Amino acid sequence: MRAGRPVVAVDVGGTLTKTALVDGRGEVLEVRSEPTVLRSATGLLDQLALAVADLAAAHAEGHPDAVPAAVGVHVPGLVDDARGTVLLAENLGLRDVPLRDQLAARTGLPVSLGNDARGAGTAEFRMGAARGARTAVVISIGTGIGGAVFVDGRLHDGDGFGCELGHMPVLVPGRRAPVVCACGGPSCLEQWASAGGIARSYARVTGRPAHGAREVFDAARAGDDDAARVVGDGLDALALAVAQLATVLAPEVVVIAGGLSRAGAELFDPLHERLEQLLTFHRRPRLVPARFGDGAGVIASALRADELLEQLVLPLQQGPSS
Ligand SMILES: [Zn+2]
Repeated sequence: MRAGRPVVAVDVGGTLTKTALVDGRGEVLEVRSEPTVLRSATGLLDQLALAVADLAAAHAEGHPDAVPAAVGVHVPGLVDDARGTVLLAENLGLRDVPLRDQLAARTGLPVSLGNDARGAGTAEFRMGAARGARTAVVISIGTGIGGAVFVDGRLHDGDGFGCELGHMPVLVPGRRAPVVCACGGPSCLEQWASAGGIARSYARVTGRPAHGAREVFDAARAGDDDAARVVGDGLDALALAVAQLATVLAPEVVVIAGGLSRAGAELFDPLHERLEQLLTFHRRPRLVPARFGDGAGVIASALRADELLEQLVLPLQQGPSS
């Protein structure tokens, strides 16, 4: 994967935070996972700084080449990469936190911070299912929906506001959105088509709780009409979103990431079918599952730390101009 210096890769999730030490050859020496400290910037910073220090200390002996040189961090939410600031992370309970500089101050290491879905998308674009494409979209379907949009080989960032595919307004014909989105939107894609949205829709329609979208897919296959309708609505909404993206960007490939992408033909066949009904002259994107599964966040954060080191090293290599 890489030939550089060791880094710490941090994947902050709404439930768990993974911290990994990755050596210069790309080998993951250790991954730790612990419940994320929520609703406290100071608490989260303490947690991350401690995790970085612990990992580094645990491998320092006998591994002089395992001393980390940088930290890459991804968080779910709006992130201004250039300023290193978490603008808004609803799931973490954070707003306007200059996480990059504050973590750098605590660890004494250079830190690079980004949005989790854009990071995971970048891993797919560089090394995964979208490798080789110039224009591509990666849709990460989990509790919510995140995305990464690449145009002519570059990630479109929108100063932190871009790629928010989960909040694309979609109106499913003949249907009203089941619940208002966490962002306040009346009919966001993630209300319809995220794993969380599908489970919530099913619970609302039937009065019976569903523990995840997998259960709703299983019920639909077993002949539960309510479940079939909820799954159908989710696929309609997803097809609408992909059709808009195909119209504006003409991506060569659309990668579906996250737990639902492992549903295989059960997801991709009906999505194809719906997309064909919506598109006319458009270039058809290849619809493919992501290459990286649960480990995508850690890989993406290691990649981010690598990029930071390259940026830091370049000016040194160029040397002073004389
Ligand atoms: Zn929304």
